[in-house]
Amino acid sequence: MDSLDGLTYSRLEERLSAAGVNPVHAKPLFNRLHRKLLTGDLDEAETLPPPLRRWLASEEALPRCQLVPSAVTPSTDGYTHKYLLRLADGAEIESVLMGFPGRFTACLSTQVGCAMGCVFCATGQMGFSRHLRAGEIVGQAQYVARRLREMHGEPIRNIVLMGMGEPLHNFDPLMEALEILTDTRGLNIGPSRVAISTVGHVAGIYKLAEHPARYSLAVSLHGASDAERGALVPINQRWPLAELLKACRAYSERKRAKVFFAWTLIAGQNDSADHARRLGELLQGMNAHVNLIPLNPTEDFSGRPPDDASVRAFQQIVLDAGLPCTVRQRRGIDVAAGCGQLKSAGKRSSHGRNASCVR
Ligand code: SF4
Repeated sequence: MDSLDGLTYSRLEERLSAAGVNPVHAKPLFNRLHRKLLTGDLDEAETLPPPLRRWLASEEALPRCQLVPSAVTPSTDGYTHKYLLRLADGAEIESVLMGFPGRFTACLSTQVGCAMGCVFCATGQMGFSRHLRAGEIVGQAQYVARRLREMHGEPIRNIVLMGMGEPLHNFDPLMEALEILTDTRGLNIGPSRVAISTVGHVAGIYKLAEHPARYSLAVSLHGASDAERGALVPINQRWPLAELLKACRAYSERKRAKVFFAWTLIAGQNDSADHARRLGELLQGMNAHVNLIPLNPTEDFSGRPPDDASVRAFQQIVLDAGLPCTVRQRRGIDVAAGCGQLKSAGKRSSHGRNASCVR
C-alpha cells in the first residue's frame, strides 16, 4: 500500500470515503501535503477539520513517506545540489536540484538500482533492487522543493525523471506520481515541464503514447547502429534501434510532440563526422531535437569527452541535416551528478567502480 503522499487527489477522496470521512476534506489535506509541503504532524494541525484530524490520528490512516537525507553535496556552481535520501526500508536513492534562478529543476529517481545495465553507469553496475512507489517519487520532489524554497525562495519549475532507474520500467507508479506533481492543487508543475528520460524502453514508449497526459519524452541514443549502441546500452539487444525509432515516430505522431534525443559524446567512440551524419540520417523526417552531452569524466570509466572543437563540428553536421541540435552544459560534475555516482562513491569499497550516467 502506498503512503498518504502517494495518493492522487481522486484516490485520496476514495480513501477518505472508505474510512467514513467526508471526501470534501481531501482538499485541505492535499493542500497541506503538496502545496504547502508541510512536514509537521498533520493530525495536530489546527486548521484541518476535526473528522480529518481524528482519521489522521487513527490506525487506519496511511503513514507519510519519510525520506531521510543521508548526504548532501553542493556543487561549486552554487545551484546544483545532490541529495542521497534514505527510504523507510533503508534503501538509498539520489535526487538532484539543478538549474538557475527562475528555472530550477528536480531530477528524480524511479527505482532503487536499475535493471538496464548500461556499461558506463554506476547505477547500472549496482543492479536492480526494487521499483519506487508513487509516494517515494513524490517524496523526492517534495524534499527538493523544500530545500529550494529555503535556499532561494522559489518553486520547482521542471521535473526530469533522469535519476536512478529506468522510469518507463516503473510505469504505473510513475504515472501516479506525475499526476500528483502536476495537480494544480499541489506543486502544479506543468505537464510539458516534465521530461521522462528513457534509455529505450520501447513498450513503455507505446504506453506513454496512449497515456492521456502529455509529458516530454527524451530518449538516449548514443549510437547510430545496433553494434555501437548495443555496446553501451544492453537494452538495445531487446529493442534494437529500428524498433526504438519506430516507437519514437509513433509517439511523436500520436502526441503531435517533439522527441528529444540525447547523445553523449565519448571521444574516439561516437564523436566522429561519420557518426554525426548517420545520426542525422536516422532521425530524418521525425519531429526531433538532438541534445549533445559531452561525457561526464569520472575515475572508473575510461571514456573521455571530446574537445570543444570536435563537439561544435559534430553539432554543425547534425544542424546541416536539418535537425535542431544543442550542446548541453554539464552541470554538477563536481558533485558527481550523474545517476548513481553519489551512492556509488559511498560504496566504492564494495562496488569498486564509479561511472557516469550519460542519459
Ligand atoms: S543510464 Fe539510466 S537506464 Fe542505464 S543503467 Fe543507468 S540508470 Fe539505468
